[in-house]
Amino acid sequence: MTVDQSRLHIAIQKSGRLSDYSRQLLRDAGLRIQNGKNDLTARVENFAADLMFVRDDDIPTFVSDGVCEFGIVGENVLAEYALGEGEARFEIVARLGFGRCSLRIAAPETSAYSGPDTLRGARIATSYPCLVRRFLEERGIDAEVVKMRGAVELAPRLGIAGFVCDIVSTGATLEANGLRAVETVLDSEAVLVRTARDIGERKTGLGESLLSRIDGVLATRDSKYIMLNATEESLEKISAILPGAEAPTIVPLHGRPGHFAVHAVCQESVFWETLQKLKDAGASAILVVPIEKMMM
Ligand code: ATP
Ligand code: ZN
Repeated sequence: MTVDQSRLHIAIQKSGRLSDYSRQLLRDAGLRIQNGKNDLTARVENFAADLMFVRDDDIPTFVSDGVCEFGIVGENVLAEYALGEGEARFEIVARLGFGRCSLRIAAPETSAYSGPDTLRGARIATSYPCLVRRFLEERGIDAEVVKMRGAVELAPRLGIAGFVCDIVSTGATLEANGLRAVETVLDSEAVLVRTARDIGERKTGLGESLLSRIDGVLATRDSKYIMLNATEESLEKISAILPGAEAPTIVPLHGRPGHFAVHAVCQESVFWETLQKLKDAGASAILVVPIEKMMM
């Protein structure tokens, strides 16, 4: 594979829990990705970047080595890599709000568990040996960590280990295997990482432009534009209710003295309860509209 030095290389998971979200994020940032899900790379038609589709475990290495200037990967994978042997030369530049999960230690449902001391002398099966060892060391606990590449939940039943430490989102997999989570080692979400290596002026510029677009997408995800009408007396109360809004725009309504239109960008979700509160405070004709693009 020859690498084009004038283009950015962005590593994303080829297939798995992060792939669709990663592609969607880049599309929302305006990148037109040429199709073909089974290819190893894809060219972005309207931005000087190529995507590399790889296993998530390889992303920290690629970004550290500078083979890819950017990558989208779970913090769990990054953190394990950073504690391992390879030199971690990357920097988290955005938290992406998807792929949320936790690395948790779990025990068989039937066993007694009374805090981390219960782990003394135990065997813990995990695909995250470095993170688990750090967790134990920080608590001064001596226990044996058994590395498994997959099917970690089976370890207690197979008699390999008394405890497991694995990625959990809902806990359903643990439950199905007769386990319950007892400790949290790490909370994780997908992040955008940038190599810490020098990538030259052109690519640095491209990277900044990519990042500013992604920041814009993230900012609009939960943001809404609210418009409503209000009387002069109710303005203060209404402004205080608007969720996550900075200085709202307030303009007088033509032909209705003492009445104003209030416009605001709300950085948080707007729930029905909030609308009811606004109405109770004296607002009328309330409109909540999505924001398509935003650049700060
Ligand atoms: P690959 O083939 O790329 O190595 P994988 O099997 O290691 O894939 P996935 O199961 O697709 O990885 O998970 C990718 C990432 O998604 C995890 O590292 C984690 O950050 C995140 N994630 C979110 N929820 C979960 C979950 N319930 N179980 C596992 N991973 C999850
Ligand atoms: Zn993986």
